[in-house]
Amino acid sequence: MMYHTHLAFGVLFALLALAFIHPANKYIFIAIVVFAALLPDIDHENSKINSKIPGLKVFSKIFGHRGILHSVWIPLALWLIIDIGFNSRYGSAVFIGYISHLVSDGLTKAGINMVHPLKQLRIQGFIETGSVVEHLVFLFVCILCVILVLQ
Ligand SMILES: [Zn+2]
Repeated sequence: MMYHTHLAFGVLFALLALAFIHPANKYIFIAIVVFAALLPDIDHENSKINSKIPGLKVFSKIFGHRGILHSVWIPLALWLIIDIGFNSRYGSAVFIGYISHLVSDGLTKAGINMVHPLKQLRIQGFIETGSVVEHLVFLFVCILCVILVLQ
């Protein structure tokens, strides 16, 4: 998925999560979710997040694209570290944003392995990254976000 589609999914997941989670500041919560929705692609050399934040490209050299950084282990670890280690309620925001990225990449033909490298728990869909279908999904997610905000 392209970065703007990940952003849209991040906003959607944040808005849905706010029905269940009541953070101290919902705008900070949404911002963290959206940022975390871009994080997994630090394993892709030419990703948007790597072009914006210097130094992150090193992860693309160490880890393969859609490998361990596109598994559930990283968001689980971040959630535990932030919530327990730093006693912050925003660990769930990182988790939700990260998961939104994994779910949306799971809609692509290339798919992802959610439990890499332990086993194969592959999720994949029918969407070609950058295709017209992805643009339509992006539009649909944006419309859902607007509906949720207006509720
Ligand atoms: Zn990705």
